[in-house]
Amino acid sequence: MTNSIINASLAQLSQMLASKQVSSVELTQAFLTRIQQHNPTINAYIALDNEKTLAQAQAADARIAAGDAEALTGIPFAQKDIFCAKGWKTTCGSKMLANFVAPYDAHVISQFDAVGAVNLGKTNMDEFAMGSSNETSYFGGVKNPWDFDRVPGGSSGGSAAAVAARLCAAATGTDTGGSIRQPASLCGFTGLKPTYGLVSRYGMIAFASSLDQAGPMAKSAEDCALMMNVMAGFDARDSTSLDRPKEDYTRGLSAVTGSQPLKGLRVGLPKEYFATGLDAGVSKVVQDAIAEYRKLGAEMVDISLPNSQLSIPVYYVLAPAEASSNLSRYDGVRYGHRTAEYDDLLDMYMKSRAEGFGAEVKRRILIGTYVLSAGYYDAYYLKAQQIRRLIAQDFTEAFKQCDVIMGPTAPSTAFKAGEKADDPVAMYLQDVYTIATNLAGLPGMSIPAGFSNGLPVGLQIIGNYFDEARMLDVAHAYQQVTDWHQAMPKGIE
Ligand code: GLN
Repeated sequence: MTNSIINASLAQLSQMLASKQVSSVELTQAFLTRIQQHNPTINAYIALDNEKTLAQAQAADARIAAGDAEALTGIPFAQKDIFCAKGWKTTCGSKMLANFVAPYDAHVISQFDAVGAVNLGKTNMDEFAMGSSNETSYFGGVKNPWDFDRVPGGSSGGSAAAVAARLCAAATGTDTGGSIRQPASLCGFTGLKPTYGLVSRYGMIAFASSLDQAGPMAKSAEDCALMMNVMAGFDARDSTSLDRPKEDYTRGLSAVTGSQPLKGLRVGLPKEYFATGLDAGVSKVVQDAIAEYRKLGAEMVDISLPNSQLSIPVYYVLAPAEASSNLSRYDGVRYGHRTAEYDDLLDMYMKSRAEGFGAEVKRRILIGTYVLSAGYYDAYYLKAQQIRRLIAQDFTEAFKQCDVIMGPTAPSTAFKAGEKADDPVAMYLQDVYTIATNLAGLPGMSIPAGFSNGLPVGLQIIGNYFDEARMLDVAHAYQQVTDWHQAMPKGIE
């Protein structure tokens, strides 16, 4: 397959399909061939079903021939294995669900199906989305296509590697504390975590329900906008889904015209995001990106998010608390792993859970159960909820002074596999710049901004509630004058 196809944007692929330059079956087959070639090394996909995938491609071709195509009809996507997809093995990266075949579709999956998109397969991830390196997956780690000795980030590591290695046209991910944006930074692509409530969580396996949000992982902001048009929207089956009018996220994307297309845009730079702990190489790339934004006409404003340093401790009280409750459903009774031998019901519960969950998941269940226990609830859980509110208020104040916030996505570039595996706190710090937005429910994205020692670096853009369209415009303007988002790892052509 020529580079022009694997590097094509979703709009270009749509155009090629419409003009019959390529059929969906051909396009899909081309990606399946690449997957066959590279997946044994990269381990991005953990479930493939070529028959199902090609049947969808055939149906898409029929739809295109009938003149009934939508923007994403016939385009092949990778789906994170956190989304239930009917008839597909859906494991969430866990031994607990290693043999679980979903009996229904998640909202996100049915939205892609409805527009005739093709599902290439399910992607690897940290177990129950807990991690920043994909190393907690029961199905093994994922290699970063830029350097096979390094991690792709997590928890959406399989989707990240699939996008970076061009093993799909684009992918879905979920972000509870950074799992779309941090891998986007470490693998060099564009990822967006929408405002909480914009994308339905129905059929998306729950980790921390008040923080979990699905979003697009793609090459460019334009691609993310097209995917948001499919993913966002009200769904009565998720009680936190927001009933808002449908938006066209591509509406503002236009070619950069004039010398200062972003004139009037106020960009907040939080001083806390440029302090100690940020790798010097990452800092340099982010500063260069900010300089580019100045050239585009944006005005920089110094802001402060004084409670942001509390976001990691607050998250590691609240997310485990919610996880301990959500994961209590895995009891070996109705579905999921059940131990082979047991004495009585309690023994069956205990052995099934002891065998089915990995170490990181158990750590979170222990912490979560502890902070919710009668004697400690007020001291930990309630206190964390109060600070969560303060963190959200910091953003409300900040957005009085600026339209978007910029800073680094992750404190470092991709690290070596194994490097942080025995140090959970070091691993948790990967999300130091992303977690606050989840706690506040705000949208955040990461765009490729350059390289440090040959490894990709992302620039984070945080927006106000429901301001995704503006964030995508801001990202798109930068991508019109730079080509970092088109860079492709060597050796996987
Ligand atoms: N790395 C964070 C964690 O382990 C965030 C994960 C996520 O966003 N799913 O909880």
